Amino acid sequence: MTSEQQPTVPASSGNTLVSLKNVNKHFGELHVLRDINLEVSRGEVVVVIGPSGSGKSTLCRAINRLETIDDGEITIDGKVLPAEGKALAKLRADVGMVFQSFNLFAHKSILENVTLGPVKVRGMKSGEAKDLAMSLLKRVGVDNQAQKLPAQLSGGQQQRVAIARALAMQPKVMLFDEPTSALDPEMINEVLDAMVALAKDGMTMIVVTHEMGFARKAADRVIFMADGQIMEQATPEEFFTNPKSDRAKDFLGKIL
Ligand code: ADP
Ligand code: MG
Repeated sequence: MTSEQQPTVPASSGNTLVSLKNVNKHFGELHVLRDINLEVSRGEVVVVIGPSGSGKSTLCRAINRLETIDDGEITIDGKVLPAEGKALAKLRADVGMVFQSFNLFAHKSILENVTLGPVKVRGMKSGEAKDLAMSLLKRVGVDNQAQKLPAQLSGGQQQRVAIARALAMQPKVMLFDEPTSALDPEMINEVLDAMVALAKDGMTMIVVTHEMGFARKAADRVIFMADGQIMEQATPEEFFTNPKSDRAKDFLGKIL
């Protein structure tokens, strides 16, 4: 790549919150993450897109240490992600994660789903956790559902609870792995709107999604992954109007 062709991404400001350096991961013979280098600044919103099987979920799971990596280094707020133990639990609590499936505790109320983590992991007093939970449920527009069980809520409401639950741990960064892809179409926007609001509030976010509207509204940077590699990165405007690689052009042709 010549210097003129370098993606127009803001240079690291020295305010890096998440950093991956030469990260590699195999599943047996399959090289799922190939020398990934990525720096996410505080307050930055990065959207990750790419074909199925390109390693997007593995990337998220590696950042949250739900997957081990073979080599390379991942740091969160300057601290190297440890392999296990209490130090890992502590750093992991800095990383909130929202999955495609909401995974709420089925037999606990919405309120309990959100207070559980702060009380058990953060050692918060129950009254304080309840106040925090109610304010977060309000923020995502489901505070009127607090006493219900997850099954009594729509998919869109449950996913917003899952966002509130992750936020209750007061993470430094939020990871979203295709948070709307299991939802009925009419519920997608209520979840995306909550995510846009979070982004505007300054949360650092890494979001795997094919929702271009979200990327255009909220992303500072779009990363295109294919075959375990970061193939391109650019502003949403630049990426969607002028993708560089054939892989990206081909992919966008299929989803747009
Ligand atoms: P994406 O989220 O981009 O669709 P994934 O990160 O889920 O991609 O998967 C990348 C590749 O790794 C795929 O080929 C997938 O089948 C494979 N893979 C994912 N998880 C595992 C696993 N636990 N064991 C073996 N292969 C896996
Ligand atoms: Mg995936």
